[in-house]
Amino acid sequence: MARIGFLGLGNMGLPMASNLRRAGHAVTGFDPGDPARRAAGEAGLRLADDLAGAVVGAEVVISMLPAGPHVRDAYEGPAGVLTHAMPQALLIDCSTIDVETARAVARAAAARGHDMVDAPVSGGVTGAAAASLTFMVGGTVEAFGRAAPFLEAMGQTIVHAGDAGTGQAAKICNNLMLGIQMISVCEAMVLAEKLGLAHQKLFDISSRSSGQCWSLTSYCPVPGPVPTTPANRDYRPGFTAAMMLKDLKLAMGAAEMTGAATPMGAAATQLYAKFAREENEGLDFSAIIKMIRGTPG
Ligand code: NAD
Repeated sequence: MARIGFLGLGNMGLPMASNLRRAGHAVTGFDPGDPARRAAGEAGLRLADDLAGAVVGAEVVISMLPAGPHVRDAYEGPAGVLTHAMPQALLIDCSTIDVETARAVARAAAARGHDMVDAPVSGGVTGAAAASLTFMVGGTVEAFGRAAPFLEAMGQTIVHAGDAGTGQAAKICNNLMLGIQMISVCEAMVLAEKLGLAHQKLFDISSRSSGQCWSLTSYCPVPGPVPTTPANRDYRPGFTAAMMLKDLKLAMGAAEMTGAATPMGAAATQLYAKFAREENEGLDFSAIIKMIRGTPG
């Protein structure tokens, strides 16, 4: 069993750290935020007063932070992970961030002799609590081999995507598809309403036809056809519109940098930005159907 320093004990990080502890590892967490510290204390997690307190002496450092600047600061800042980590400590960043930052931090870690992987997740807070996350992992084969047993304590599907940064690339490409597909399902459901076709009938037909996709069959944006979705509980998240917008912006940044054409992604980003501006960022991302329904044709 390993000594693990866990940075970022928010909605995702705390259940992930708790699962590592349940698997028998000695986990010390750090988060500067009061609500996260309180929740971690209530969950019985050992807490450090600062980042160094979690990282010094850890064989593995895992981070689950909001965005790229937090990751860069936590690893490369003057009092960061790369200053305090033991030689040979394995570094795993599970945050969703831009590919460039992931690659830059991995290069800095490698220069100090650390194996590091970017390992963003799919599965949300439910998957984090149930240890059923999907991890998309970028890094060397050796680093992936070292990280896999720890990721297995927090998830069910662990995929090596390729070199450093490709875990993040997989995550933003996946969520680019998801954002576009959700809007397509919402548009079809609203058109069905106007044509006098019941949601359930469209669901029954399209879930067995060529319109089938996860946004329809697992995350249907109208109440009824899939009783567990946020649509059945007033669009309480789930996965917030703000998070979807964040990931679409990451995809748009990557597309601009590489010259990839993403016209549908650009349209989806604009729609989610408008939806978030209307103070809906805390709603589930499938709630965008309300805006689409309310938009004159
Ligand atoms: P969150 O805001 O609940 O938690 C992030 C935590 O990081 C906060 O508590 C914050 O105080 C802490 N933090 C910031 N800087 C820190 C530092 N230097 N050291 C230690 N802690 C620090 O966010 P979340 O929902 O847990 O998401 C975390 C990451 O996971 C994000 O990158 C997000 O895009 C990604 N993600 C989230 C979901 C989801 O459904 N919530 C799903 C997939 C991926």
